[in-house]
Amino acid sequence: MTHIQQTITDILQNLPGHTKLVAVSKFHPSQAIEEAYAIGQRIFGESKVQELSAKYEQLPKDIEWHFIGHLQTNKVKYIAPFIGMIHAVDSFKLLQEIDKQAAKVERNIPCLLEIHVAQEDTKFGFSFKDCKEMLDKGEWKSLKHITIAGIMGMASNTDNMEQVRSEFQSLKNFFEELKTGYFQDCSSFCELSMGMSEDYPIAIEEGSTLVRVGSMIFGSRTY
Ligand SMILES: *Cc1c(COP(=O)(O)O)cnc(C)c1O
Repeated sequence: MTHIQQTITDILQNLPGHTKLVAVSKFHPSQAIEEAYAIGQRIFGESKVQELSAKYEQLPKDIEWHFIGHLQTNKVKYIAPFIGMIHAVDSFKLLQEIDKQAAKVERNIPCLLEIHVAQEDTKFGFSFKDCKEMLDKGEWKSLKHITIAGIMGMASNTDNMEQVRSEFQSLKNFFEELKTGYFQDCSSFCELSMGMSEDYPIAIEEGSTLVRVGSMIFGSRTY
């Protein structure tokens, strides 16, 4: 086994049944994805539209591509025909555009609402308050080509693992609050996307259903 394959195998061994691995392959070549694919990994995360489109063309069509980065509305059309899930929806405007582009290609695209819990203010995402305000308005209910499948968040970039844990806990609590308040009858509101290379074991303990692990599997990236 290659290093990539061994690392994925190790991660999967410790994942609970309700948690899936998104292998974050951004900035790594298609060949690295093929190594992971060869041992059965099918969900891959990318954060740049152009890079994702190129990889989609090259690689097997049963890969489930997840868009995990900040998505600009004018680029939604390029990925709408094939994207499996969009993790970081941070405005109603973006949700509307995804719905519009999904309708054109007769698809329904699962979307996660990105929630801002980290201390850094450079990160995107809804505050708890803005998210509830958006849901309270109810306009999202008329969007028939998207499904709000849950929420996504990133913890602060810190060595303080107690802080990271408490941020994951607040995401989990907010997920439950939304589930009860807005999605009680929607079995499809079920995903809590949290946890990256540095903190995914804690995210799992706090109820993550989708961990997004990149550098631990594929090595460090050069930005
Ligand atoms: C890059 C990225 C990841 C993966 O980060 P690693 O630290 O390499 O595991 C996860 N989530 C998002 C949103 C990312 O942009």
